[in-house]
Amino acid sequence: MNEGLKVIFEKLKKRIDSAKTELYYRKYFEWRLPTRPFIQVNMETNSVCTRKCHFCLFGIKDVPVKKMSPRLFFSIINQLADMRFRGRISLFEINEPLTDKRIYDFTRYVSILLPDCYQLMVTNGDLLNRERLDALMDNGVDLLVINSYDRKALERNRVNARYGIEKYHGMVQHCDKTTFTEWVSRAGHIKQYAKEAVHDFCEYPNYILYIKPDGKVLGCWHDFDEENVMGDLNQEPVRDIWYGKRFKDFRKALNRGDRSLSTLCKRCDHRPDINYMRWNRMLAHEKCSDRHASNDNKVRRNEVAAAIKRKYL
Ligand code: SF4
Repeated sequence: MNEGLKVIFEKLKKRIDSAKTELYYRKYFEWRLPTRPFIQVNMETNSVCTRKCHFCLFGIKDVPVKKMSPRLFFSIINQLADMRFRGRISLFEINEPLTDKRIYDFTRYVSILLPDCYQLMVTNGDLLNRERLDALMDNGVDLLVINSYDRKALERNRVNARYGIEKYHGMVQHCDKTTFTEWVSRAGHIKQYAKEAVHDFCEYPNYILYIKPDGKVLGCWHDFDEENVMGDLNQEPVRDIWYGKRFKDFRKALNRGDRSLSTLCKRCDHRPDINYMRWNRMLAHEKCSDRHASNDNKVRRNEVAAAIKRKYL
């Protein structure tokens, strides 16, 4: 295809994707139609962090150390591939992903099995160096965000971030969080940031599949005490949990603005943020999906995936 046609085609594709996103949003909250597939997967491969920040679960309690079994990890990714999942995937949530040494292999496995997914990773940079940054990017991270939470980290992270930004053009970002003030209470858990409870719909259970290291699927990522467990991936497949009665009922009530289902939702001060949902949906569409495909051919990639599995099973 010539260059001019390619540009027109890309623009048209973006317009269609944007219209689809609009429709997606309207379907959920205005038309209240049945459950649609998730567009984002957040999966913690362990429950470890290097910090105890004031805005986080790790800052308010001791978190028991858990590690996802490789068998469960591969099973989840294979199921997502069977479901032809195409969206954002993040191999972390409230943990620090670099505390898990398997993260490079796991990232690679995801990029092979789910080549059209957008892998976004956020790190506090405590364990980051140039080699690790290269390893993450080479294995398939599409966007690496380095957050600096104090002055010391800011100085240190600047060096790694500059290296990444120059080398990976737009795929590495550095965020100075030392002056950030918009912290959220995480459904009321972080008392100093808590606001009045909100009585409105909640978008999270409509588009995010949030998986803990032990395989539990939670209703949202603010659920520090695991009150709203939607299922266990050691017992049920992803599809059955997402489309199961428990999750559907939970979703339905929240879409009506009924937050009386759990003490967590009752006191939650999260205001729906459709722009964030839209942004997540657009990420996968904007991905240049043949970046990894061009690195090595399909047969070779399948061999790499098999080798990664053999290494851990
Ligand atoms: S209402 Fe709050 S606690 Fe309940 S699912 Fe939504 S964000 Fe989570």
